[in-house]
Amino acid sequence: MLFLNRRASEIFDTPETAAIGRGLISVLRDYQADQMVQDVLADDEPREAIIQMPSSGRTLRLRCASIYTDTPDHAAVRLILLVQDQTQLSQLERARRDLVANVSHELRTPLASLKLLAETLQSDPPEPIARRMLHQMTNEIDAVTHLVEELHELSQIEAGRITIQLTPGRIGQVIERALARIRPQADRKQIMIIANVVDHRMPVLIDSRRIDQILLNLLHNAVKFTPEQGRITVQTWVIHVDEQDHAQYRLHTGQAGATMASPAPPAPLLATPTGTQTTLPDDHPAGLWLLISISDTGIGIPADQLPRVFERFFKVDRSRTRNVGGTGLGLAIAKHLVEGHGGRLWADSFERRGSTFHFTVPMA
Ligand code: ADP
Repeated sequence: MLFLNRRASEIFDTPETAAIGRGLISVLRDYQADQMVQDVLADDEPREAIIQMPSSGRTLRLRCASIYTDTPDHAAVRLILLVQDQTQLSQLERARRDLVANVSHELRTPLASLKLLAETLQSDPPEPIARRMLHQMTNEIDAVTHLVEELHELSQIEAGRITIQLTPGRIGQVIERALARIRPQADRKQIMIIANVVDHRMPVLIDSRRIDQILLNLLHNAVKFTPEQGRITVQTWVIHVDEQDHAQYRLHTGQAGATMASPAPPAPLLATPTGTQTTLPDDHPAGLWLLISISDTGIGIPADQLPRVFERFFKVDRSRTRNVGGTGLGLAIAKHLVEGHGGRLWADSFERRGSTFHFTVPMA
């Protein structure tokens, strides 16, 4: 290598001084790229290749051609290598392919069982069986409808077509409304719901219909993934996130005016009134926020999968969720909606002990 520009040395993750004088193979560590260079040298034909760098995982498109320099022997061949970092492009392409694969996978199961049920009905089964099958068919149709609705919702959000209208409101009422809707499902599994919600005198700035949707989604998951006789706890408190160092946040007492602040905790851990702890996401904006947490005593989420639950279609271990249904889109939608309020949604979880989902909304 005789010369490389600054961007190339960034992409190769090798300082210019370390790269110059070395062969391409020792910088890129890619046999295919090295072979391409040899081939261009041999027959003077330009070539291109797409490679993946083993060290950084970047996807690079390489184009190689020969140039002739004006040296005394007039025949010194030099090669020029054009490097394009296509990592982001290839990730987008993968996301698109995954989406198509996931949608067809999610549709195939209910469609296959609809077909089976319809075929059985054609053979005139006894009336009670026929009635049960029709009921099952309605459930399958509901599942497909739900999937299509959530997909539509997600695409509207991602296209920026859903506006979030922030108006001052009381969080207590919104939470009560969501709890009233989820209680029948919880009762069926004898799950106790505890709401530790102080109706802070300060209003929050929310789109209450969207907050409703987020709460219902999180509560619905909590019921779904908690065994019978478990417990779900909803609580809220006011936090102040510092401008300079967001790790220094204080727990407000939640009383009028929120002027009372406890001293900043030494570590960036937020101890909740019930003794559990959490860490705010690094990119949490500064200011005064209402933190809402929903804890359950359910099956929990393995640590290595936890960050992925917010990806669309992601479900932890499909086998354990087969009986409970779901599209894997709910949390992706909820995350968008929370971020549309300027807040953040994150989770803590211990396998077999339970999960806590937290989100923040701005105080008015
Ligand atoms: P869905 O519930 O429709 O599958 P979500 O996006 O709401 O989709 O959730 C994605 C996945 O995250 C779920 O399939 C489940 O594996 C996991 N998950 C979500 N909430 C909980 C919870 N409270 N406890 C355990 N696992 C959960």
